[in-house]
Amino acid sequence: MRKKIVAGNWKMNTDLSQAVELIEQIVSKSTNSSAQIIICPPYPFLDKAVNTCKNSLIKVGAQNCSQNNNGAFTGEISVEMLKSLNVEYIIVGHSERRSYFNEDNIQIAAKVEKCLENGITPIFCCGEQLSDRNTNNHFDVIKNQTEESLFQLSESDFSKIVIAYEPVWAIGNGNTATPQQAQEMHHYIRELIAKKYGKKCGDSTPILYGGSCNAKNAKELFALPDVDGGLIGGASLKAEEFITISNSF
Ligand code: PEP
Repeated sequence: MRKKIVAGNWKMNTDLSQAVELIEQIVSKSTNSSAQIIICPPYPFLDKAVNTCKNSLIKVGAQNCSQNNNGAFTGEISVEMLKSLNVEYIIVGHSERRSYFNEDNIQIAAKVEKCLENGITPIFCCGEQLSDRNTNNHFDVIKNQTEESLFQLSESDFSKIVIAYEPVWAIGNGNTATPQQAQEMHHYIRELIAKKYGKKCGDSTPILYGGSCNAKNAKELFALPDVDGGLIGGASLKAEEFITISNSF
């Protein structure tokens, strides 16, 4: 059975006191979740998050990392630093990183590798723009993103990653993908993995859906055969809703 995962991407939201309150609320409400819950607060609050979540079921992730080792890269955060905080997951290749910070598939591949070298699980995001879907290029875009950023990995490294399919047109706007659209793409990604690494690997890779997933639609999405949970943006900033989503399996 594949791992069920719900990860919250807080993006650039909350100040310290809001972050502490949200972490504490999520910890106190999450006592009977069957899914692995992960919270990904902004960098400055990670240490606090790891310490607050220590004796709970919640794991902590970062939203990004550098592909470089420590050194003269002003303003960057290395995977080694995140590892020293006991962060266990890192979101890599989010569409906002791709579009606002020009991250390309090769840079994202290097970040994925850096995570794995340090024993941290990358949550690799892929997703097409609306224009790709409207021109029927969505499968090719996802194929290209996964091949260029992931298929250099050995099978043993690949078996450690988590994938999040996040159609860019569905993020942050309420235009959730339909269950049919989500299932079709998740199945396609699983087939790509199976072709490259074998059916066992395809069948065991967790693939999360992201894009306006909320407490109302999570049950239907998570019930799909190839959807193993969600990467949640806006709705992860409300403890009650985030926990309802985590309990939607
Ligand atoms: C995201 O940014 O990863 C995301 C899924 O955002 P939202 O849930 O707000 O669409």
